[in-house]
Amino acid sequence: MALEYLRKNDPTIAKLVHGELERQRNCIELIASENFISLPVMEAMGSVLSNKYAEGLPGARYYGGCHVVDDVETVAINRACELFGCKFANVQAHSGVSANIAAYLATVQPGDTVLGMSLAHGGHLSHGAGVNFSGMLYNVVHYGVSRETETIDMNTVEQLAKKFRPKMIIVGASSYPRTLDFAAFGRIAQEVGAYLLADIAHIAGLIAGGAHPSPLPFADICTSTTHKTLRGPRGGFLLSNDEELARRIDKAIFPGSQGGPLMHVIAAKAVSFAEALRPEFARYCEQILKNTQAIGRGMTDGGLRLVSGGSDNHLCLVDLTPASITGQEAERLLEGMGITANKNAIPFDTLSPNVASGLRVGTAAMTTRGFTEDESEQVGKLIAQAIFNRSDVVVAQKVRNAVMDLLAAHPLYPEL
Ligand SMILES: *Cc1c(COP(=O)(O)O)cnc(C)c1O
Repeated sequence: MALEYLRKNDPTIAKLVHGELERQRNCIELIASENFISLPVMEAMGSVLSNKYAEGLPGARYYGGCHVVDDVETVAINRACELFGCKFANVQAHSGVSANIAAYLATVQPGDTVLGMSLAHGGHLSHGAGVNFSGMLYNVVHYGVSRETETIDMNTVEQLAKKFRPKMIIVGASSYPRTLDFAAFGRIAQEVGAYLLADIAHIAGLIAGGAHPSPLPFADICTSTTHKTLRGPRGGFLLSNDEELARRIDKAIFPGSQGGPLMHVIAAKAVSFAEALRPEFARYCEQILKNTQAIGRGMTDGGLRLVSGGSDNHLCLVDLTPASITGQEAERLLEGMGITANKNAIPFDTLSPNVASGLRVGTAAMTTRGFTEDESEQVGKLIAQAIFNRSDVVVAQKVRNAVMDLLAAHPLYPEL
């Protein structure tokens, strides 16, 4: 990486940035929430737009000199609306959680009842976990997956909704490998008079690329990150088709919960939305689905079990109990072989979340890198081999060599 000025001015940080580039280059990245942004997205983020204060919205700012960034934000909003086929977007949320904070502020009052997916079954902290603002401020009731199918049982969601009469229902997850039935959630929300919030942080890219059904028009509000399958800069955004809610969302972001927007990141969001509007992006999403099937096949052929028996999206949740290894141990073992994945609780896990019986394996990043189905299946097999033969140094060396060959075939950021 050039880093011309940084190298001269701050070699300590320059060296660390380069070290992280090398780390990303030298491992197969399977963390389901990560991806590799394009160089145009990176350039927009590293631009002079970072210098500008622009509290407010395009055309209605609290500072002067905003005519250029007004255009940047308008382009980002219009592209988000085009990409997801909706009327309204707020692109200022600093992150996925910031978007969720704004969604709560726009819809419910502290103490109101909210129904969301439990963290232990694949939901997100911001869907009502006790240690999070959402669990502290709202009366959150949780649904999970059924023991038999390990998928969300819509009858249970309906029963809970009728019993607790939530003001808002949240659909969305961080480690759920199956299609979310947004239409069914929409019907239930309507029946009990609740807002429906669809948090598409993980699957936004798949939705944009036509590889997962869209929550619009069923959801009142849709929140998301930009940096997971959508492959944009680290950030968040909100969508809606309701004018009144749109007004409340804007106010909930500023002045409700944020100060000045990150205009350099908003520019990068605009660039990534344009990338996602291109036909290549739909092909990318198709390849993600194929690669997930392939890596899942590799792991199950190797003796591991997939929670719910498979995947419809970009991730597999692997049950490690057949191999008598914890998620924590597997994560560390694989990292030593150049494979990065994260330990994850499986539904009805008997271990604590920071030990966990599962592994979450996502294919968005390696698909960006150019991995094919054959290679993905091979990665799945390597994971199983490494885990089942963890005391065999010969196997460990073989896996490490195979990982290095795969990485060499798909160099990351060769331009840098
Ligand atoms: C990742 C994620 C978030 C949080 O995004 P951050 O940008 O880390 O704040 C919110 N909701 C879901 C479902 C997620 O998976």
